Amino acid sequence: MTAPAGPRRRATRPARAAALLAAALGLAACTIHTSGHGEVSDYAPTLGPSNVLLPGKPSATPAATCPPSYLPPDPQRPRVSLNFRIAPSLTTVTGTEHIAFTPDKAITELVFRLTPNTAPSVAEGNQIVVRSATADHGGGRYVFSRANAAPNTQGGLLRIPFAAPVAAGTTVHAALTFTVTLGEESFGRFGRTGGFAWFASAHPLLAWERGYGWHTEDMIDFPAESATSEAMQTSLTVTAPAADTVIMSGDPATPTRSGTTRTWHASLAAARDVSVAVGPFAVADVKVGAVRLRLGAPDDTLRDDLVPEFRRAITALAARFGPFPFPSLSVARLPASGGGIEYPGAILMLDGSRLVAVHETAHQWFYAMVGDSQAQHPWLDEAFAQYAEQLVDGTPEDPAALALPGRVGSSTESYGADERGYYATTYDKGAAALEAARTAAGPAKFDAALRCYVAANAWRIAKPADLQKALGKLPAAVAVLRKAGALP
Ligand SMILES: [Zn+2]
Repeated sequence: MTAPAGPRRRATRPARAAALLAAALGLAACTIHTSGHGEVSDYAPTLGPSNVLLPGKPSATPAATCPPSYLPPDPQRPRVSLNFRIAPSLTTVTGTEHIAFTPDKAITELVFRLTPNTAPSVAEGNQIVVRSATADHGGGRYVFSRANAAPNTQGGLLRIPFAAPVAAGTTVHAALTFTVTLGEESFGRFGRTGGFAWFASAHPLLAWERGYGWHTEDMIDFPAESATSEAMQTSLTVTAPAADTVIMSGDPATPTRSGTTRTWHASLAAARDVSVAVGPFAVADVKVGAVRLRLGAPDDTLRDDLVPEFRRAITALAARFGPFPFPSLSVARLPASGGGIEYPGAILMLDGSRLVAVHETAHQWFYAMVGDSQAQHPWLDEAFAQYAEQLVDGTPEDPAALALPGRVGSSTESYGADERGYYATTYDKGAAALEAARTAAGPAKFDAALRCYVAANAWRIAKPADLQKALGKLPAAVAVLRKAGALP
């Protein structure tokens, strides 16, 4: 996501110098971010047409140091089917979720993360209530863990325990039903205003990481991301009032009408999560190279202003990091302010700036494709997204950001309620460290190593050690990142 400038995130993330100044003054800042570069007009993937995901392709592990194209998703990845029905009032969403999950080690329970129940979310009127949860292989009565969720909720983690351990390699099926309440004038990943509503990370999110196990980290005290989830084969179905348009992860087929509703369906070969927005959007459908871009906005002017920004972002970032990870990108510009939030194949845009467009599009590589634990290693997506802004917009990070306090590699949870410290260290210092590492190693070598890192960790959950491995022949870059506390 883009960092907020105020407690209610009513302005975009400050530009670098302004952020540093603001941090020094203890003030929020809001500045216009301008580009020093011209438009990039050609879609120029340089890793080859490898973003087509082929189900059934053999497992790509162990990862090569520098595969010639993105590794395919794990054939054993979870399969999830999500069905959301949005009430005519847009105040509630009823959902069903079916999971087929094959763990790579023995499990004694299933664990799902309930993001709508975080304290800042609930304070704005959002909440999830799980109505039912069942699993085969003897999955028993479901329970909840508080995990620092708001006290007046079921909790932050849903658990379905098994009577006996389920062996590695056994496929477990689970079925859940739930209701999500959307707060009025709420901003972030849930909200509704002016006939529009949006929600993301709204369903119980399977909290497994292959090779690690369950992620049971506490909910955090501010609205940044803290979930970890695998790329799943995803089926997404949304039923909404017939007059409204749905902008969601994936590239939905033409909706089917039934009475007063329309139902939209999309499939994603690999997605860690999904976002959905609904309302009377003015929609543009354009092609950017091979990528289908769908952009919905509250009016034609906003829509027409943003299409070139996303065309530019997709093109420039693909030239930098490799082909766009998904066949399509759906962008919902909402009648709200506060930055933007990234989801696989989709972006919720609460601000219309170029900065937000580039930042959130960069997350399609760093988070959506190259995943990370957003709780343990948030810099692996946020610092990279901000670093990408600098590359595309030609706006170097203020080197003074390297002197900001804290270790870039700190966990989200370690910041407690220090939201400002989290953003300054993870985003600003992290991006400055990447830029300094690039300078130290030599830009061409660093860029090549980063492309290897992206290809080798595609559709996986990367760790700092994976980046270090990719930078193995660039000790000067590693030294810079170590000094900033990004690498161990
Ligand atoms: Zn971000």
